[in-house]
Amino acid sequence: MNEAVRVRAAVVDEPGALPRIEEVVVRPPRKGEVRVRVAACGICASDLHVWRTGEGIQFPAVLGHEAAGVIEALGPGVEHLVEGDRVVLSWVPRCGRCRACLAGRFHVGAASRTDANDGSLSRGDRALGRYMSVSGLSECVVVAASSVVPVPDALPLRLACLIGCGVTTGLGAAMLSGEAGRGEMVAVFGCGGVGLSAIQGARIAEAAIRIAVDPNPARLALAEGLGATHLLSVTGAEAVAAIRELTEGGVDLAIESVGSAAVAREAFDALAPGGRAVVVGLTGFDAEVRIPMVALLLDKTLRGSIHGSADPQSDFPRFFEFAMAGELRLEEMSGPDFPLDRVADAFEALASGSAVRPRVVLDADLA
Ligand SMILES: [Zn+2]
Ligand SMILES: [Zn+2]
Repeated sequence: MNEAVRVRAAVVDEPGALPRIEEVVVRPPRKGEVRVRVAACGICASDLHVWRTGEGIQFPAVLGHEAAGVIEALGPGVEHLVEGDRVVLSWVPRCGRCRACLAGRFHVGAASRTDANDGSLSRGDRALGRYMSVSGLSECVVVAASSVVPVPDALPLRLACLIGCGVTTGLGAAMLSGEAGRGEMVAVFGCGGVGLSAIQGARIAEAAIRIAVDPNPARLALAEGLGATHLLSVTGAEAVAAIRELTEGGVDLAIESVGSAAVAREAFDALAPGGRAVVVGLTGFDAEVRIPMVALLLDKTLRGSIHGSADPQSDFPRFFEFAMAGELRLEEMSGPDFPLDRVADAFEALASGSAVRPRVVLDADLA
């Protein structure tokens, strides 16, 4: 099995160009690497962002970073995994040597790359950009063995893949970065895949008030089904005023999952004294947030969060358990499914807002 394989992948030649299904070559796994047959890959807002802007990646590239599959070849020195293991791919490599890894803060490890142009995936003699070291829109990929997390048999890969990015980003923003606590009041701005996961995280953490803010009524209905206790279809200053009135002074935790500097400010303005605002959404690299300095003296926090501050190796298994126990509901917030040759339609479904988590199924038998 340890030779190069030829598979189909969705290749994007330049920012904004439609992904084209082409034959690519996947080199054999080297020391410490594994080759994974991808079963399914969710389409995330940051795929759309890099596709449109080209920020942080070299083209031509294969996007997709929310994937799950089955290990089909092991490189030398990989002993804790076997061929046939079902895994979620993580875009947070655990190098084990950098200062962050040594401190247990794996999500900010030095090995994370938005673009791993590592030559493992190529078209002709040209190496392809690999988004977030994953490139889940290829039927096969080579990744570090430390970047895969085994999935329990009872959890279908088409659901497990979502934990590879969006679900963890939202759950973690609420439970880890935001430290949502029992009885607290939480507001989530934006009810896409990440925001809906944040609402679920607030529910699992037993926050008492869980306010969903989104102008899209279909998304608010989803949010209600997944655990929001209050729904706000207004935005901007109106949303802030409504939250402050509803909570008699502001929430304990506000989560921005829109990807907007203005909304980050609104999240901060919605806080009660001592509250925490967590910014999750990806913006253009030049976006800036202004906050009144004096408000910080009310013990308020504005913080960022990458990958929900989660450690894939220890937190994904916990999140798999939530999903299998029915506490984390993935089916309702995901789909529709598209085959690989309709990947452009999956992008369009996310861009138009008709789906919160469209998914590409690359191998229906494995998914
Ligand atoms: Zn993502
Ligand atoms: Zn590291």
